[in-house]
Amino acid sequence: MADRDVADRPARRTLASSLGEGALTSSATTVDYSPVAMMPDVKVLKIGGQSVMDRGRSAIFPLLDEIVAAKGQHQLLLCCGGGTRARHIYSIGADLEMPTGVLAALGQYVPRQNARMLQMLLARHGGLFIMTDDFEKLPLYFNVGCIPIMTGMPPFGYWEKPDGEGRIPRHRTDAGTFLSAEVLGVRRAIFVKDEDGLYEDDPKKNPSARLIPRISSSELLARDLPDLIVERVVLEYLPRARYCHELQFINARKPGQLTRALAGEDVGTIIYKG
Ligand code: ADP
Ligand code: MG
Repeated sequence: MADRDVADRPARRTLASSLGEGALTSSATTVDYSPVAMMPDVKVLKIGGQSVMDRGRSAIFPLLDEIVAAKGQHQLLLCCGGGTRARHIYSIGADLEMPTGVLAALGQYVPRQNARMLQMLLARHGGLFIMTDDFEKLPLYFNVGCIPIMTGMPPFGYWEKPDGEGRIPRHRTDAGTFLSAEVLGVRRAIFVKDEDGLYEDDPKKNPSARLIPRISSSELLARDLPDLIVERVVLEYLPRARYCHELQFINARKPGQLTRALAGEDVGTIIYKG
């Protein structure tokens, strides 16, 4: 059959949509955006790697008692840090000239190991190991009384963004915890570590550093402190957050702090969007 004239060909079928035209890169590409808060009542907790897990049973067991006691009143999602073992693979990988994306992929193992161990310790109380893309199942898990536990590491892996300066992935388990709270529509993410909150300097190196009970992310970045209790990238993202507007840092070594934080008390340090 001879080629038909172009004009006779059937028109391309397109689905009309607000972003249908263009490459999604134009500054004029704006859509009225008011995202749904999927599970705003969930308490998103980061359980520190080096700061909590690496301290072993003396730090973990009392904390788990508080978690189990809180389970009846709160929907708890635990995100695990990596700690010393993760730092070990980063330093060996960096020494062997591994790219950032490879380090980020390798860095996924240890937080997952910690999540699996917490699951086993909490199994009797409904501890459930979940994958990072199991968010859709959270309503079911909470309805049957589970405590979902996952890695805090965001699943960027080989697709980790280049840092520009160092090679250690900038998005680690603090970032993953914050991003989890943000996508779930949770206002405050709670970071359980081993200090009373944010200080003007690392209190382990500088014991005279003073505690900062409350500070905005922009003020904190502007102060350019020598060291921080949280991954710097989280402070850069906080001003862009739609839902997660507060980060709370509490001390796992102080009995009752977690319970008070879960009750909404401003214990520890609050870093807020601003
Ligand atoms: P995680 O175990 O959650 O990964 P990190 O060990 O990375 O936690 O971060 C917590 C540690 O950060 C604390 O143990 C503390 O020694 C250190 N740190 C560094 N700078 C500060 C600061 N300005 N205020 C409080 N802690 C700080
Ligand atoms: Mg850390």
